[in-house]
Amino acid sequence: MTYQSLNPFDGTIIETFTDLSDSEVEAKLAAAQTCFETWRHTSFADRAVILNRAADLLDERADALARTMTLEMGKRIGEARGEVAYSAQILRYYAKNAERFLAPVKLDPIVGAAHMESSPIGVVFCVEPWNFPYYQLARIAGPHLMAGNTLVVKHAAIVPGCAIAFEQLLRDAGAPVGLYTNLLITHDQSNRIIDDPRIKGVALTGSVAAGQSIAARSGRNLKISSMELGGSDAFIVLDDADLDHVIPWAVWGRMYNTGQTCCAAKRFIVVDSLADAFLAKFKVALEALKAGDPLDPATTLGPLSSEAALVQLVEQVDTAVAAGATVVTGGTRIDRAGAFMQPTILTDIAPGNPAFRDEFFGPVASFFRVKDEDAAVALANDSDFGLGGSVWTADAARGARVASRVDTGMMFINNIDWTDAELPFGGINNSGYGRELGDMGIQQFVNKKLVRTA
Ligand code: NDP
Repeated sequence: MTYQSLNPFDGTIIETFTDLSDSEVEAKLAAAQTCFETWRHTSFADRAVILNRAADLLDERADALARTMTLEMGKRIGEARGEVAYSAQILRYYAKNAERFLAPVKLDPIVGAAHMESSPIGVVFCVEPWNFPYYQLARIAGPHLMAGNTLVVKHAAIVPGCAIAFEQLLRDAGAPVGLYTNLLITHDQSNRIIDDPRIKGVALTGSVAAGQSIAARSGRNLKISSMELGGSDAFIVLDDADLDHVIPWAVWGRMYNTGQTCCAAKRFIVVDSLADAFLAKFKVALEALKAGDPLDPATTLGPLSSEAALVQLVEQVDTAVAAGATVVTGGTRIDRAGAFMQPTILTDIAPGNPAFRDEFFGPVASFFRVKDEDAAVALANDSDFGLGGSVWTADAARGARVASRVDTGMMFINNIDWTDAELPFGGINNSGYGRELGDMGIQQFVNKKLVRTA
């Protein structure tokens, strides 16, 4: 049994699910292919009707959808509601803009005339993670369905309730059979789906290990893929920053979604003149968070997504400490039922310490003191990842100069790493390749075809 809904707040098993058989997978793939043959010829306006209806249903069902998410992976209910609302926004954004993004582009050859057309490629296979159970699905459904593709989706094993609810939502919005299909399947079945000639593209959001496996399998089949993997984003505090403004954002940046966000602030790099004050205030703010039921709006610290995630995180902290790191606050699980981790700050993390390079996917902040701006940039760039990062300064122009020197896919000045429907999201190096959202997100799985007239 791979798929199970289990409440990480109290360990209750909510429901278990049976994996699809190979013949059931085959029937669903066949339906996705059949649907594509029709869907590819539908107008943008007709596609938009279904996506807009799905967005309305997200709004109408927000309370129930948010509750399912909170029960399955422990997201605090206010954040869960926010995610549902944002997912609706993404669907509407592509319903409105897809036709413009994919309009033919006139070229200027020396002789004759030419243009580029954008056409759908077919069935796209998506593998998605549990940390944003609906947003991740909206982020693929919005652009790729509006582009005329159909989707088969493997969601994470711990959020089957969310996966099924999202599929149902699209069906209720009028999606034909095969347009969007949730698959409760094993990793072996995923591999065979990537091999299937009907699959024309593969999108993953997840860990580096999953990326290496799925990108390799896609590459062997010469299939286009996009990889949105982990990150260890720097939060750079320059000497002119206003700490009263910065600290709440540092807490938010590290603790949103209980720290389980690819683009969360993970490495806090602070120039010497502000380092002591920053560390003292950050510690007080993190220690003020109160663990509790994520369904209770008053709770300020939720559980991690699973007991396994907690055990892994505690092990990582133990390894860091054994290699010389100092625990400023926290450091282990909270002594209560549920998958709760103490908000933790580590410092004295030397380059040879595994914590220097690894990603902490939970409420563990790595703190670094540096002598100046140049040292901050050098440390920010000393990472295997390259997703995002932020710079905090009273001088926005200085912040922009620093942002240009940091090697990531996204940089934010006096603003925490975040996502907007209209802005591209993605990274470089071990953070993956390709971009989601914005205009770029819809170009990922389309055929850019040159049409030339003599
Ligand atoms: P995984 O990468 O294991 O899971 C993400 C998705 O990929 C899930 O649907 C998972 O399925 C699937 N998956 C993983 N390996 C394979 C495979 N070989 N073939 C097919 N599907 C696969 O992430 P975890 O949940 O284990 O989290 C571990 C780490 O991943 C985190 O600590 C973090 O570093 C990173 N991560 C990054 C995310 C991001 O937003 N970029 C999101 C989630 C995790 P299943 O659940 O069935 O294993």
